[in-house]
Amino acid sequence: MPEVIFGLDSTKKFKDQDKVGHNRWHPAVPPVATVKPGATFRVHCREWFDGAIHNDDSADDVRDAPLSTVHALSGPFAVQGAEPGDLLMLDILDVGPIPQEDSGPLAGQGWGYTGIFAKQNGGGFLTDWFPDAYKAIWDFSGQVATSRHVPGVSFTGMVHPGLMGTAPSIELLRRWNQRETALRETDPNRVPPLSLPPLPQDAILGTLSGSAFDDAAAEAARTAPPRENGGNQDIKNLTKGSRIFYPVFVSGANLSLGDLHFSQGDGEITFCGAIEMGGFIDLHVDVIKGGMKTYGVGENAIFLPGNNNPQYCNWLAFSGVSVTLDGEQRYLDAQLSFQRACLHAIDYLEKFGWSREQAYMILGAAPIEGRFSGVVDIPNSCATVYLPTEIFDIDVRPNPQGPAKVTGGKAIPKSSF
Ligand code: ZN
Repeated sequence: MPEVIFGLDSTKKFKDQDKVGHNRWHPAVPPVATVKPGATFRVHCREWFDGAIHNDDSADDVRDAPLSTVHALSGPFAVQGAEPGDLLMLDILDVGPIPQEDSGPLAGQGWGYTGIFAKQNGGGFLTDWFPDAYKAIWDFSGQVATSRHVPGVSFTGMVHPGLMGTAPSIELLRRWNQRETALRETDPNRVPPLSLPPLPQDAILGTLSGSAFDDAAAEAARTAPPRENGGNQDIKNLTKGSRIFYPVFVSGANLSLGDLHFSQGDGEITFCGAIEMGGFIDLHVDVIKGGMKTYGVGENAIFLPGNNNPQYCNWLAFSGVSVTLDGEQRYLDAQLSFQRACLHAIDYLEKFGWSREQAYMILGAAPIEGRFSGVVDIPNSCATVYLPTEIFDIDVRPNPQGPAKVTGGKAIPKSSF
């Protein structure tokens, strides 16, 4: 086993650990450890809500989820000799749930969760149609996930970190704040908000304290969006075997990561759409000196995806175009066409006995593929979602006899304001 350079004690909260991570981006957050280029090491990760979501049959915890506390990130890890302009070359050697044999209280100890976030608290891709909070608990058996709340479905997970990235420089951080503030000010009262401002409340910034903490917390960026440093990209294909190249913006690169997912569909559409869990990740790190310029990787990561994906080869695909449900024509709106494709799939699965919320959860958590199929044929863009037919216990393909019905399972827990 590689050396553990960031360990977590399951009995303690994230900020009470021996080494304290962080939940905001700021270049002043001090590294918790330094590694050399060529090093291999293990990092433990807490699930993104630090234990606030429980393995039970109520969605009240998702409704009340403390969004000011996310994401619990492990790091930063400094890489010796890395300087702005370099590329960090990161291999995911292994990644999995918390290595502990009995099922404890934390997500990752044999189970994980998917949430539909309430419109009042986070929202999601289809929040206008799903304004209330719901939750599904998933159980892990080896590589396979099943849920007592979503009957008739089982699939092989594509375990990956939802969030990895390097620290921003202070100039880059200020650019983020400037452009995200400008967007938010176009509609300051919108629910959910257009972007999230810096928020000192519940900020964790490693060992920073006193006025250094206050200064950094006042401008440290929230971790929800993906940005130039990578961040919360939620790319399901960053599985074991992936190699990722991150731009370096500060001396040491200061890599951080977290938000491990047992599985996720493209788009992570319910917002907490993946199967969230805590776990471990084994990494190998190297540096390409001057790599940002050499390869033209100026802003944002590139990667070689892992190659141990599940062998699903039969798909049922749904398409959507950029026309609203009310029949209004929009111009090449790819976001809308992807929404319509997802709603199309949900309408379809409902005919087989799944509730609309169960179908929404399946799209968020199972390894579905989402594609922009056409983006040039004015006025309609076309998006498609591909569902692997092998994940369903019943045959979900259309046939002359009509749809089979899925049975069993508990009602999916709901909570509303
Ligand atoms: Zn996540």
